[in-house]
Amino acid sequence: MMTDALVKKAARDLCASRNVAALTGAGISVESGIPPFRGKGGVWEKFDPMEYAHIDAFMRNPEKVWKVFLKELNEVVQKASPNAAHMGLSRLEALGFLKTVITQNVDGLHQAAGNTDVIEFHGTFARHRCLECSRTYPAAELNFSRIPPRCECGGILRPECVFFGEMIPPHLLWRSEQIASTCDILLVVGTSAIVQPAATLPVIAKHSGAKVIEINAEPTALTDSVSTYCILGKAGEIMSGIIRELEASM
Ligand code: NAD
Ligand code: ZN
Repeated sequence: MMTDALVKKAARDLCASRNVAALTGAGISVESGIPPFRGKGGVWEKFDPMEYAHIDAFMRNPEKVWKVFLKELNEVVQKASPNAAHMGLSRLEALGFLKTVITQNVDGLHQAAGNTDVIEFHGTFARHRCLECSRTYPAAELNFSRIPPRCECGGILRPECVFFGEMIPPHLLWRSEQIASTCDILLVVGTSAIVQPAATLPVIAKHSGAKVIEINAEPTALTDSVSTYCILGKAGEIMSGIIRELEASM
């Protein structure tokens, strides 16, 4: 099916449901200027993820990981604002269709767009915690001109995200699995579906009888085996198209 026809189909499917959830990944924030980890222009073309985004690497040498990897990601995240794809999901909630956004992103852009129930599966860069005394600071109160950023006690701060090698907070994992197994539609936007356990959520949704509607710039591991259908294209353009169709048909 052509993209336009799939956009119309997605609008019709969403319109028939009041129990929609979304799972988002780094791809939804690319149009906000935040590079994804994989694919073209991805951070991993420059860095080895296991070397820099693994908790063992961070704890071994937090100064180095801040300087080489976290500094740049943190800078783009702190100045980014929501794009048309985030705004589309926010509109989908306001219209009464979308209940919850489960995001792998750490950029806070779903909340900035206005979604009210956002599960930050991999934590956030909006808060940072001291490695020595565990005091936390909102990012807005920190001065990132000195890297690594430090606590008043002198300890190095870490973002409150989930590094590779760390556990997903169990209550977030549990709730996400509940949502995946009870929603009618799971919109999967801009995720390569490689990082576990997030990549299992669309599988749970499918096996629980939900439609899995995928939106991605390219086919993924889900496209042929899990997704009910996949709309290829930029998340911002596709989401805007879906919202336009949906509003026209209401
Ligand atoms: P990923 O980097 O593995 O994959 C990104 C996916 O987005 C790819 O499949 C790519 O084809 C797609 N994509 C790229 N541009 C797109 C666009 N304009 N529209 C639609 N799709 C597009 O990302 P992931 O699956 O989220 O997993 C990697 C991990 O990286 C996650 O855990 C996430 O926490 C972290 N991460 C977060 C951010 C952020 O907070 N914005 C940025 C980079 C990485
Ligand atoms: Zn401290």
